[in-house]
Amino acid sequence: MLDPHPSLPEFDYIKPKTLAEASQFLADHAGEARPLLGGTDIFVRMRDGFWKDQYLVDVKGLDGTNEISFDPAKGLTIGAGVSMNRVSAHPDVKVHYAVLAEAVDSVASYQLRSRATIVGNICNASPAGDTIGACILLGGVLNVHGLDGKRQEPLSTFFKGPGSTVLKAGDVVVSIELPLPPKGLQGTYLKLGRNKSSDLSIVGVTAIGYPDADTVSGYRVKVALASVAPTPLVVDKVEEIMAAKPITEDVIAEAAEAAFETASPIDDVRGGAKYRKLMSRNLSKKALTVVWEKLGR
Ligand SMILES: Cc1cc2nc3c(=O)[nH]c(=O)nc-3n(C[C@H](O)[C@H](O)[C@H](O)COP(=O)(O)OP(=O)(O)OC[C@H]3O[C@@H](n4cnc5c(N)ncnc54)[C@H](O)[C@@H]3O)c2cc1C
Repeated sequence: MLDPHPSLPEFDYIKPKTLAEASQFLADHAGEARPLLGGTDIFVRMRDGFWKDQYLVDVKGLDGTNEISFDPAKGLTIGAGVSMNRVSAHPDVKVHYAVLAEAVDSVASYQLRSRATIVGNICNASPAGDTIGACILLGGVLNVHGLDGKRQEPLSTFFKGPGSTVLKAGDVVVSIELPLPPKGLQGTYLKLGRNKSSDLSIVGVTAIGYPDADTVSGYRVKVALASVAPTPLVVDKVEEIMAAKPITEDVIAEAAEAAFETASPIDDVRGGAKYRKLMSRNLSKKALTVVWEKLGR
């Protein structure tokens, strides 16, 4: 039974001076050390007894982790230690990555977002992570520093299961890169939660769309679902359906049905599986309609 009055266990706080030092320490202490950013997931999991790490390795401030920058040719780079509030307040994020700002602003409260990071949200690998869908659909790639030096990990192949990713002992995510979005991109994030603040989603739907002369419909439209599968879920069928014929209300309904069919949620404290599955259809339909209207239908 869970302790009704849990407290944070003792741990050692490690502040490495370089990425190489951080990776070495994490590898030497595999299974008893983890990277620390905002700590908004870590401290809750440790307080509740689910995680028992002896060492928290603070990677904020290490080379490349503290900057957010936009290059009109390359896109956006968000350092791992950049808080969610810094991201959504960034002028270039508001203009070019509005769907990410919308997803960020749906996370808990302003106070929490002053600590919480997008990279922490991703590395925690909860299927409910609100910012993950936008990062995947926008083509996000992680810059990782490991024992063998630097490498990149695309988000499309990053998640293996709840709380599980392709990261290995010694890996530190330094930043996430989001390429320049296609011209005319519109998007939205719709989140169904038990309340308007400080709760994870029952279902979350990220939808984006942009003009694409190579499709029959003239548009490329994509949907990612949160909280309805073991990992964040991109519904490939939505893209196929929305590309294959001129977009109408019926086509949107067909695409939303594909989201319903792809979702494989479980029952948990926030909602039943059946409700979640039905809401993945309803919310997808709403999100696709919003995007379609933003595109000028
Ligand atoms: C009250 C409350 C409400 C919340 N509401 C929401 C919500 O509405 N939506 C939502 O999505 N989440 C929510 N969360 C969860 C949490 O705030 C987010 O997942 C947040 O983005 C985590 O970021 P962080 O910087 O605090 O990560 P941390 O807690 O520091 O780390 C999270 C995980 O990532 C790993 N990690 C951290 N940095 C790195 C790195 N550089 N390289 C590799 N691995 C790393 C850590 O070891 C840990 O496993 C909530 C949490 C609380 C406490």
